[in-house]
Amino acid sequence: MSGAAPRRLRIAVIGAGMSGILCGIKLREAGLGDIVIYEKADRIGGTWRENRYPGLSCDVPSHSYTYSFEPNPEWSHLFSPGPEIQAYFEGVVAKYDVATLIRFNSPIVRADYDAGRWQLTTADGDTDTFDVVIAATGFLHQPAYPDIPGLDSFAGAAFHSARWDDRVSLKDQRVGVIGTGSTAVQITSAVIDEVSHFSLFQRTAQWVLAYPNPPYSETDRAGFRQHPEKMREIYHYWLNRFRDTFARAVIGDEQELNKIQAYCRDNLERNVHDADLRARLTPDYKVACKRLIMSDTFYPALQRPNASLVTAGIERIEPRGIRTVDGQLHELDVLVLATGFHAHRFMQPMAVTGRNGLTLEQAWADAALAHRAVALPDFPNFFMLCGPNSPIGNFSVILISEIQLAYVTRLIERLRRGDCRALVPRAAATADFNAAVREAMKGTVWVSGCRSWYLDRHGNPAMWPWSFERFVDDMQAPDWSEYELIA
Ligand code: NAP
Repeated sequence: MSGAAPRRLRIAVIGAGMSGILCGIKLREAGLGDIVIYEKADRIGGTWRENRYPGLSCDVPSHSYTYSFEPNPEWSHLFSPGPEIQAYFEGVVAKYDVATLIRFNSPIVRADYDAGRWQLTTADGDTDTFDVVIAATGFLHQPAYPDIPGLDSFAGAAFHSARWDDRVSLKDQRVGVIGTGSTAVQITSAVIDEVSHFSLFQRTAQWVLAYPNPPYSETDRAGFRQHPEKMREIYHYWLNRFRDTFARAVIGDEQELNKIQAYCRDNLERNVHDADLRARLTPDYKVACKRLIMSDTFYPALQRPNASLVTAGIERIEPRGIRTVDGQLHELDVLVLATGFHAHRFMQPMAVTGRNGLTLEQAWADAALAHRAVALPDFPNFFMLCGPNSPIGNFSVILISEIQLAYVTRLIERLRRGDCRALVPRAAATADFNAAVREAMKGTVWVSGCRSWYLDRHGNPAMWPWSFERFVDDMQAPDWSEYELIA
């Protein structure tokens, strides 16, 4: 087919969160064809639309949590709150006229491949056919509910942190939060002044890095507006800082890891004054094995007179509160489940069927594996952003998504040029990539002995086990020997 006139491709993107919006902008700029973005909800924003809990913010510095091509002089803080981030994405969508590409209220329930074309089906039963599908569905969007006996018997309001019930006032209420991840930590600091009593149910202590969150002044913002290059400098400053410290620490640089652990231990020792509380807040695993928590307000909040850290295990939930294994009933009016997400389901439960009738469920029966985090053998012209083994820990996922989309765009270019009707990673190349991932993973901190959402049910982290530089390098351009071009 080589030498034929460029094809005008029909490209479906699933999800209008950070990655889906990026697809709308960049694929249109590349002139690859007609783009339709399917969004399950009635608004863009993904995780920033879904999460509305008090204290929501991003612990990646705001000036590096932007698209590289769209700096934002208006950030209010070093780590700006969630509603500002949602507003940023809405502003980008308006500026680049992305909304015209989006079909809102259109969850995709099926994707079926046949002879070079994908048929997508929405929950309403509408179907349409595309040459290419990009799953930009995120990985922290399916709430994980704890399997605790009696959960349904609770008489007060109970909800997951990602399903915040705005009708419930916390003022002067006895509030319990289960979990000690980034979400629970942010909620703790945000609500402590408002509630009559706050109980944090901790199963595992966390390492906490005390990072201050200074505001930007109006003068700072005016400076950013006048000199956008200042924002570029800050963007690169944080990127380089993460790359040279944290990103190295997690893949085996023990010296760097020890430094971070020393900062966290120092935070604990300086800022938690009671020896018993300090002991209960001291983790028994290496820093960054779980996702590192950044907060300089969490420990002060936990030491307020109306706060309790509950470390006895939860036995069951009763109508009046939580019964712990020591027999105590912790009476509550409101219960928040900050218990995280099913991070390894990616675009599931969408029913995806590739060539020869192979379903995604079958392909991923054992583990969610992909080729270079973006493609799957037997699923031609189907690509993912922030898929399995993307470098996602404490890094700006926006940059990760940009790098992956640039790589995917090169794949799609081959289709557009008519070099082939479809392309798919070879099974052997995918197996080699994943074998190398598994081998390299042995040297990372994520497998050093803790439970975290990074790990799948076999204990394998869905993370990138090499340096950030290697990610950038590997994703510069596809190695065509790894792909099968289907005529
Ligand atoms: P998470 O890190 O997975 O934490 C879930 C918490 O719930 C853990 O403390 C876990 O305990 C606890 N838990 C789960 N089931 C339980 C049970 N049956 N009984 C008792 N405790 C239970 O979830 P998350 O805090 O929502 O954060 C998820 C990720 O979202 C973060 O790591 C981060 O990537 C992202 N996030 C980012 C920000 C940000 O500022 N950038 C903010 C919020 C979230 P164990 O530790 O013992 O498993």
